[in-house]
Amino acid sequence: MEWETVIGLEIHTQLATNSKIFSGASTAYGAEANTQACAVDLGLPGVLPVLNREVVNMAIKFGLAIDAELTPVSVFARKNYFYPDLPKGYQISQYELPIVGLGKLEIELENGETKIIGVTRAHLEEDAGKSVHEGFTNMTGIDLNRAGTPLLEIVSEPDLRSAKEAVAYMKKMHSLVRYLEISDGNMQEGSFRCDANVSVRPKGQKEFGTRAELKNINSFRFVERAINFEVERQIDVIEGGGKVVQETRLYDANKDETRSMRSKEEAMDYRYFPDPDLLPVVITEKQIDDIRKTLPELPGAKRDRFMNDFKLSREDASLITSSREMADYFEVVNAKCQDAKLAANWVTGTLTGALNKDGKDLSDSPVSADMLAGMLLRLKDNTISGKIAKEIFEAMWQGEGDADTIIDKKGLKQITDTGAIESVLDEIIAANPKQVEELKSGKDKLMGFFVGQVMKQTGGKANPGQVNQLLRKKLDL
Ligand code: ADP
Ligand code: MG
Repeated sequence: MEWETVIGLEIHTQLATNSKIFSGASTAYGAEANTQACAVDLGLPGVLPVLNREVVNMAIKFGLAIDAELTPVSVFARKNYFYPDLPKGYQISQYELPIVGLGKLEIELENGETKIIGVTRAHLEEDAGKSVHEGFTNMTGIDLNRAGTPLLEIVSEPDLRSAKEAVAYMKKMHSLVRYLEISDGNMQEGSFRCDANVSVRPKGQKEFGTRAELKNINSFRFVERAINFEVERQIDVIEGGGKVVQETRLYDANKDETRSMRSKEEAMDYRYFPDPDLLPVVITEKQIDDIRKTLPELPGAKRDRFMNDFKLSREDASLITSSREMADYFEVVNAKCQDAKLAANWVTGTLTGALNKDGKDLSDSPVSADMLAGMLLRLKDNTISGKIAKEIFEAMWQGEGDADTIIDKKGLKQITDTGAIESVLDEIIAANPKQVEELKSGKDKLMGFFVGQVMKQTGGKANPGQVNQLLRKKLDL
């Protein structure tokens, strides 16, 4: 039987405010445990939460970016449950009336096509504290610093049909919140994580199968692996004559498997009710219009502009605009060297490779956009060859200065003096009579051999095109 996978994601993204959603306590990451939760975050008797205006603005910004219906009057609700990291016994969230309603996000599939994924809703809520196991034996520590940190929970429609599509959606959403500057998207620190709802159904069947919810996945790689494992598991269960039960499962990255946490029967009844301490959130047309004016150029629009204005391929344009930093970097390089294809190749190739290798972000790149452009100009005006360019890039990466300094210091200027190249060629021709004969008798592949020899002798400083020409002239080819 052929099976179809159905997936819906719930993404939690931490909003980049300085203070918490209902208190003035700091949201900075990495402080000493339990130094950043105040009485409001802990829900001590007699305190009153006050909504942080900035989180509302950020939610509106997000809603506009995904073409969503914004809810004029949304409501905070208490979600009641007991857990050690939630001392007040309830989480303030939104339930029936979330601030952001139905919207959509376009993703790109591997075959180059695009697909629209529905976003059911996005609501504001506070984060809970954290259990800490490291450094404790027979005990669990509780760190409440994170309690009250603002989150935007983004719930997708069950529109995703494979683990790959889920990853593409998650990446696109990650890129979007960073473009909007509403979240730093730091996945190691838990600022961007998701729950994946997964089910399977026989291909062609209209009704959805029973889903399992995979909790708290904090990397793109794990989302893909967790979903693939879960799909296989569900198919095995059904093909073995069993039934998938609705449950919450945990993905264990070490074992690469999902395990049951609780079934639907054990699912909690949260007894949601409107929080009596907080007024409904009213947003006005004026507020929406003001925020609309602050929207940056979004990834899709930027990609299309790069394709139209710079004639980049869709693949290059998508890759470069996947992050705002890379797009900005590219634009600086391109403006200075006036060669979009060359700039795109270096940004997506050598530069990205070097960043990945050293585990660096573009913002910490030792080679600035200006420096890269400076080097590409020397490549374009034939001062250096492509091979030497790689060498110079490496030297710039190691902090040896800009391209012109390195070219001077190391004497890397390309040899354009025909006389100099000819004398090297003469030597090589004399030393390789057999190859010369073969080349003359039509074995044109040997051109590569001769050019290679010249490059070797000149330490990569000859211009390959020029060598080619001179050789043909010398041998009457
Ligand atoms: P809950 O409130 O229990 O989390 P929701 O109806 O809000 O349930 O759905 C949560 C997520 O599960 C959404 O992203 C939705 O798209 C997804 N989802 C719902 N039904 C299915 C299904 N049968 N298979 C896969 N995903 C599903
Ligand atoms: Mg859920």
